[in-house]
Amino acid sequence: MLELTSRQRVVREQARAFATDEVAPVAAERYRRGEYPIDLVRRMGELGLIGLPFPREYGGQGMGLVELCLAIEEVGRVDQSLGITLESAVSLGAMPILRFGSAAQRQRWLPALVSGEQVAGFGLTEPTGGTDTAGLHTRAERDGDGWVIDGRKAWIGNAGSPITSHVTITAATGEDEVTNFIVPADTPGFILGARNDLVGWRTIDNRHLDFDGCRLPDDHRLGDVGAGLANFLTILDAGRVAIAALAVGLIQGCLDACSEHAVERRAFDRPIGSFQAVAFTVADLAASAQLCRDAYLRAAWLHDQGRPFTTEAAIAKLRCTEEAVSAARAATQVFGGLGFSRESAVGRFYMDAKILEIGEGTSEVQRLVIAQGLGLPIRPDGSVPPH
Ligand SMILES: Cc1cc2nc3c(=O)[nH]c(=O)nc-3n(C[C@H](O)[C@H](O)[C@H](O)COP(=O)(O)OP(=O)(O)OC[C@H]3O[C@@H](n4cnc5c(N)ncnc54)[C@H](O)[C@@H]3O)c2cc1C
Repeated sequence: MLELTSRQRVVREQARAFATDEVAPVAAERYRRGEYPIDLVRRMGELGLIGLPFPREYGGQGMGLVELCLAIEEVGRVDQSLGITLESAVSLGAMPILRFGSAAQRQRWLPALVSGEQVAGFGLTEPTGGTDTAGLHTRAERDGDGWVIDGRKAWIGNAGSPITSHVTITAATGEDEVTNFIVPADTPGFILGARNDLVGWRTIDNRHLDFDGCRLPDDHRLGDVGAGLANFLTILDAGRVAIAALAVGLIQGCLDACSEHAVERRAFDRPIGSFQAVAFTVADLAASAQLCRDAYLRAAWLHDQGRPFTTEAAIAKLRCTEEAVSAARAATQVFGGLGFSRESAVGRFYMDAKILEIGEGTSEVQRLVIAQGLGLPIRPDGSVPPH
């Protein structure tokens, strides 16, 4: 895909207008307060940004991952916390219900998630480890017609906000058998930890969760028994492309800020952009934004064509997020002392960048996926596959 369609350009313009007019002016203050932005989540619902990749019958816009990624980039360009809240509301919150839910489950849960009235969490990671997704300790035992869940999840987004409807989790239902469940927010025994005190992404809802004898009817099982891990991993494939788009938003935000600062800020009676060291930093940011944007768009386009995209998603996530960390460091340098203040956009980007290399699969996991895609005999647990 070399050019965006006119519909895609419209989506990007709408998201950019929302980000510029409604998000950017209050981003610093919201970051300082650290409050979960219920009003902006609802606004993203109203504007149709959350609904971009969902069918119209659930209130969505019937578009694809390309359009969602364009919107995430634009929101992330001015506010990474809101960008990840959009990404996780869609990719991790509502998408598992669309992809694996029964007709009744879709009807029950999707309209409120798509409209932004509610959000949902995605509970895969446990305190004992996120990379080793199969080594989970949360269990679901059969109990008559239903299930009883016991266990713990760690670092889960959108799971305890005032507008959370439920969290979808993985639980072991037998030896080497993982199944997904929908746990409504008001389920007895579903216990929320306090909000995690994060280095960046200061306005998101992120917590550890306990499940202490949570009883669920069988119609809260999401997908087939035993399909839970594979299903969640395919959700992460698309989620990684969206995280790559969020990272490009950060790079572009650094470029915007530095382009302006390089002209306005003066030293030795000259704009600092007249010094080659600063000008070349800005040039590198521009090169990085363009190449990384192409990488996520390629992966998203393959996804929307129904073609294999796992390797391209991992390549986009790896390269865009590592470039974003470098971009935040470089932009902070261009801003000098102001770059280390959360009052400046680049100061906030500096705090927000590092997690991009960790969430939805670390950089090491992306390299593993890429190596496997190349046919190399490498496995996450270090074992050698049989010939
Ligand atoms: C702000 C935030 C939001 C999050 N949101 C969610 C969420 O909504 N839902 C959710 O389920 N999780 C969420 N997570 C969890 C996140 O996905 C995990 O932190 C991440 O997958 C890494 O897992 P871990 O922290 O347990 O690190 P570990 O798995 O303990 O890994 C530690 C280090 O070892 C490396 N490593 C491990 N195994 C290998 C290997 N085989 N080869 C090479 N290197 C390896 C890792 O790459 C990493 O560098 C979130 C985390 C944060 C911080």
